Amino acid sequence: MSTLRELLASGKPSFSFEFFPPKTAAGTRTLWQAIRRIEGLSPAFVSVTYGAGGSSRDRTVEVTKRIAAETTLRPVAHLTAVGHSVTELRHIIGQYADAGVRDVLVLRGDPPGDPNGPWVPHPAGFTHAAELVALVRRSGDMSVGVAAFPERHPRSPDWESDIRHFVAKCRAGADYAVTQMFFDVDDYLRLRDRVAAAGCDTPVIPEIMPATDVRQIRRFAELSNATFPGELARRLDAAREDPAEGHRIGVAYATAMAGRLLAEGAPGLHYITLNRSTATTEIHRNIQNSRSAHVLAADR
Ligand code: FAD
Repeated sequence: MSTLRELLASGKPSFSFEFFPPKTAAGTRTLWQAIRRIEGLSPAFVSVTYGAGGSSRDRTVEVTKRIAAETTLRPVAHLTAVGHSVTELRHIIGQYADAGVRDVLVLRGDPPGDPNGPWVPHPAGFTHAAELVALVRRSGDMSVGVAAFPERHPRSPDWESDIRHFVAKCRAGADYAVTQMFFDVDDYLRLRDRVAAAGCDTPVIPEIMPATDVRQIRRFAELSNATFPGELARRLDAAREDPAEGHRIGVAYATAMAGRLLAEGAPGLHYITLNRSTATTEIHRNIQNSRSAHVLAADR
């Protein structure tokens, strides 16, 4: 099987989907329905987020291993440095390697409880994601992804330091980066230009969040410090009592974003699913259909 770096270097856009570890038996059923539907789309990879602590972390490991064992999908395990000693991190990486998981999305993580609170590293752990990138690299034949921020990391005092630290993280051994959610394609393009201007050629995959439910999306956007466009919010607010219309607006907005990102040469698209496949598979199909139409038009 080719590595993710090789896949991304092939010039063919990679399509991938993100899940989170469910808390309940019903949540597990919903997740697995989504996984099976998405498996039919043959994505480049699917990723599973890593919780802030405790049992959700064990569930990340379980879900990721199960995807590796029971599906044809390539699972990418998110892993954060929060609350872990280096020894514990080594142990988790070893568990993944034993289960045949060879791809890790490395993150520093945020303080548990209040994500905007002071960052306190584990006394025997890491302070920045770059250190965990180096550890995963040293641990064997693993591909490593990292996070990128089209609107700058909220803790970065300025763009210069944000890009400098991002490039250092890539040079520590990242094969690719996945962005935080964003709603303005120009933010992604400016980030890509800044990274390229700093001499870094690590592919940066944009993350697509379908904005179909205005309350939910506002909460997520706030948590991730993403600017939610006023016009989109106004249209979704107007459709508050009509979920089908909200869904249509969110899917249309994300489809337009995704189409422009690919036209601008983005190396792929990473869809946030929230463990449901409907909106993301619709966006993905819209994109595939318009790409096929382009190819047909070019062949004429
Ligand atoms: P870092 O790269 O360490 O950067 C954090 C801050 O420190 C930045 O401001 C950076 O500029 C600065 N910095 C870096 N190195 C240095 C240095 N040497 N000296 C001084 N400053 C430095 N969180 C989860 O808990 N679980 C997940 O599964 C998860 N998945 C995510 C997936 C994606 C695609 C993204 C974009 C984010 C995800 N997050 C997740 C959130 C992430 O953990 C937070 O955004 C976190 O605050 C930053 O992580 P990082 O890996 O970018 O950290």
